[in-house]
Amino acid sequence: MVSLYDASREDITTLLEGQPAFRIKQVWEGLYQQFVEPAQMLTLPVALRNKLNEQFPPALNLTSTSVSDKGDTTKFLWSLADGGHPIETVLMHYKERATVCVSTQAGCAMACGFCATGQAGFTRHLTSGEIVEQVVRAARESAKKEQRVANVVFMGMGEPLANEEAVWGAVERMHHDIGISARHLTISTVGIIPGIRALAQRPLPVNLAVSLHAARDPLRDRLVPINKRYPIADLVQECADYLRVKNRRVSFEWAMIEGVNDQPQDAKELARLCKRLRPSAHVNLIPLNPTPGWPTKGTSAQGVRDFAEQLEDLGINVTIRRNRGTDIDAACGQLAAGQPIKLSSKREIPAT
Ligand code: SAH
Repeated sequence: MVSLYDASREDITTLLEGQPAFRIKQVWEGLYQQFVEPAQMLTLPVALRNKLNEQFPPALNLTSTSVSDKGDTTKFLWSLADGGHPIETVLMHYKERATVCVSTQAGCAMACGFCATGQAGFTRHLTSGEIVEQVVRAARESAKKEQRVANVVFMGMGEPLANEEAVWGAVERMHHDIGISARHLTISTVGIIPGIRALAQRPLPVNLAVSLHAARDPLRDRLVPINKRYPIADLVQECADYLRVKNRRVSFEWAMIEGVNDQPQDAKELARLCKRLRPSAHVNLIPLNPTPGWPTKGTSAQGVRDFAEQLEDLGINVTIRRNRGTDIDAACGQLAAGQPIKLSSKREIPAT
C-alpha cells in the first residue's frame, strides 16, 4: 500500500484496531465524501488523526499546478512518494460539472511516436490508490469552484490496460465509494486485447475508448507500435464483443495528422471499421497536439471539420475534441511531466 486510498475498509479497521465501527465510517467518509486529509477529519480524536497521517502521508506530492483556458483547465504535476517519479492529472471544468483525466502509469511503454508520454519511456505502474488519490485531490480543487467531479477519463499518462488490475480497483472505488457511476468513467487504450477482454468480464459497465488513429495495419504499425501484436481486425472484433457484453458506448479516437490519416480514403476505411460494431462505434477526432519529438503536422481546423463531415455522410457519429490546456502541455498526448524528451533519430516518420 502506498496510498491511504489503497487501504480497504478492513485495512483501516486493522490499522485503527479496537476502534468502534462508527470511527471507520468517519474515516471512510472523510476520504471519499469530504475529500479531506486525516488531519482535517475533525470528528476523529487527534491521536487517530496523527496515526493515520504518520502511517499514510499523501502519496502524491504537489510539485506545481498550471492553469489555462481562463481557469477552466488545471494541470497538476505530482511527484510520487517513492522516488519522486513525476506524473500528471488534468482537471477540466465544463458548464455544470468537472472531468478529471488521470494517469495510470508513471510514463508509458507503448512508444507511440506522436505522444509525449510515449516518447519519455516507462517508469512504473501506479497503484489503485495513487489513481484514486488523483481524483480526490482534483475534486478538492474543483470544490473551490463548487463543481462536482462527474466524469473521470483514464486518458492521462500511461496505458490503463497494461495495468488493468490496479485500474479496475480504482474504478470500483470511484463507483462505489466516491459515487461517480461507472457510466461516467471512460478507459482509453491503445488496444491491448487481453486487457479489453478482462474489462469485459468485470462487473461494472465502463466506457471504452480505443486510440485507433489508423484503419489499415501498415500505417497503424508505424503510429501505434503495439498494433504489430494486436492488429486491427482482431482489435475491432474485441471491441464488438465488449459492446455486446457491456452495452456501453465504444469510441475510436483519431488524432488527425496531416497527409497521413486525414484523406477521404481514411474516412471510408474508418467508417467501415465503425460499422463492424452494433451500434456503430462513435468517432472522436483529436486535433494533433504538438509534441517536441514528432516532426509531423496536425491537420488544419478546416481539414478536421471536412473529415468529420465525410464520416457523417457515411453514417458515423463523430465529435471533434475541444483542445484543453495546449499552452500548458496538458492536452492529449502532451503529458510528459516536464521530462526532457530524447529525440531519437530512429523514430519512424509515417510515409505520406
Ligand atoms: N494509453 C492510452 C491512454 C492515453 S489517452 C491510449 O493511448 O488510449 C491519450 C489520447 O491522446 C490517446 O488517444 C492518444 O493516442 C492521444 N494522443 C497522443 N498523442 C497525441 C497528440 N500529440 N495529439 C493528439 N492526441 C494525442
